[in-house]
Amino acid sequence: MDFKDTDVSHARELDARDELASYRDEFVIDDPNLIYLDGNSLGRLPKRTVDFMRNAIEHEWGVRLIRGWNEGWIDMPTELGAKIARLVGAQADEILVTEGTSINLFKLAAAALKARPDRTGVVSDVLNFPSDLYILQGLIELMGKKHHLNLIPSADGISIADEVVDAAIDSKTALVSLTHVAFKSAFMYDMARVTEHAHKAGALMLWDLSHSVGAVPVDLNACNADLAVGCTYKYLNGGPGSPAFLYVRRDLQAQLSQPMWGWFAAEDPFAFDLEFKPANDISRYRVGACPILAMKAVEPAVELLLEATMERIRAKSVQQTEYLIFLADQWLTPLGFILGTPRQAEMRGSHVSLRHPEGYRISRALIESPPPAVQVIPDFRPPDNIRLGITPLYTTFCEIHQALDRMRAIVEGKIYEQYSSERLTVT
Ligand SMILES: *Cc1c(COP(=O)(O)O)cnc(C)c1O
Repeated sequence: MDFKDTDVSHARELDARDELASYRDEFVIDDPNLIYLDGNSLGRLPKRTVDFMRNAIEHEWGVRLIRGWNEGWIDMPTELGAKIARLVGAQADEILVTEGTSINLFKLAAAALKARPDRTGVVSDVLNFPSDLYILQGLIELMGKKHHLNLIPSADGISIADEVVDAAIDSKTALVSLTHVAFKSAFMYDMARVTEHAHKAGALMLWDLSHSVGAVPVDLNACNADLAVGCTYKYLNGGPGSPAFLYVRRDLQAQLSQPMWGWFAAEDPFAFDLEFKPANDISRYRVGACPILAMKAVEPAVELLLEATMERIRAKSVQQTEYLIFLADQWLTPLGFILGTPRQAEMRGSHVSLRHPEGYRISRALIESPPPAVQVIPDFRPPDNIRLGITPLYTTFCEIHQALDRMRAIVEGKIYEQYSSERLTVT
């Protein structure tokens, strides 16, 4: 992709040609001085979610009371799952919205290890989100330390080569558990290739889609993926701490067994039997009553993405990450920044990490500089990554231009020196 020049007029032209431009209006954006490139730890609030939630609280809860369970609440994990299924290439009955990503990973990884009792290898990688690794470590400890966690190395801290992945998987591997798009570098695996390799070795494959769903097209069925989990508060704009989802391929649903035998995982929860008999479908992966209100907030946001289509979202995301990298090459590389993200679009998700030794103070300056300076919210990921998230439904080319121009000014003018290097709790 070729960009003409670094002038703002070019950014304006790109915005004028943007097919998805009208979607920005679907979001609550009330501070014209704020550029939100949080990448993407918490998506923006869709306007339609506000009315939807008002109705859920005032009418469904306030008026319908306990009757609400029979008027749709009980089926929300599967009904909403069916909508998310369309974003990730799964069947309607293969996705369940429930709990958090870490908990779902625990349930599915445990089910996978139980299904491969003769194997002791668990494969993940050093780019993975630490929570995923902690969950695997805790599970191994709980299962009597018979398993060994093998982390695939990364030569450059950004990506992992095919042959390195392949070498880590062997006939002892029970489970390969990887995050499709890496949280720091945005490196994206070839899901079909890795899944096929894991299957050839006889292992089960579990994908974490937290930074993929709503950001890049995913086709779980076409890849023949066994298991997956994912987050809804990032690119699905479901709100802070919104419940996560899990995927179990249909033919595996009744074969595998997850370890948390709550009443909603039972064949008939309202029979109140004293002995657990699991459901034979995706409900087997439920646990207890679900957070209805939190789940409600996910629905209108998912519908927005379905309307916009993942194809168009991906096309704009690639164009915007390319544009961001183009500006970074021109303006920021001479100032000591290095690109912490793959250059090839097909190996990259929807965020870009720019690394600088003063990354933390630069990100504080971006967030905290008082007006008239434009405020930019990125994420900071140690040791030196400023992570800029592109959300094609509301990110504009002009915002990318302004944000990178601001980064340039902060470093050129040494403005970051006015900010403390002491870390805040949430970065
Ligand atoms: C965001 C994220 C999570 C979050 O897990 P929670 O249990 O929802 O806190 C897990 N894994 C990955 C890869 C993530 O990006």
